[in-house]
Amino acid sequence: MNGRKRSYGQHRRWLWDNGKRTCIYCGVKLTITPGQKNSMTLEHIKPLSRGGYNKRSNYAPACHGCNNGKGSAIAEEFARNIIPRLSAPSASMEGKK
Ligand SMILES: [Zn+2]
Repeated sequence: MNGRKRSYGQHRRWLWDNGKRTCIYCGVKLTITPGQKNSMTLEHIKPLSRGGYNKRSNYAPACHGCNNGKGSAIAEEFARNIIPRLSAPSASMEGKK
């Protein structure tokens, strides 16, 4: 588990830099600053315990409340609907500053 914390931060930053700045579940605007109410958490869309991968295509931004409150089954439901949107090359949420 060495380095997990560092890569966690890097992946959060990657999401942030790619315009993924709202919670995939409730749509709240996230902040990159740790310790805030709406701080971004790194969500594994497909949980590692269910065969998900520790890589970017499996990451999505979520707020603390949703990340803590959801079960793995819920995440998979969302994955079906949201992953295509997240990976769309020109999502409308991008390009806005
Ligand atoms: Zn949320």
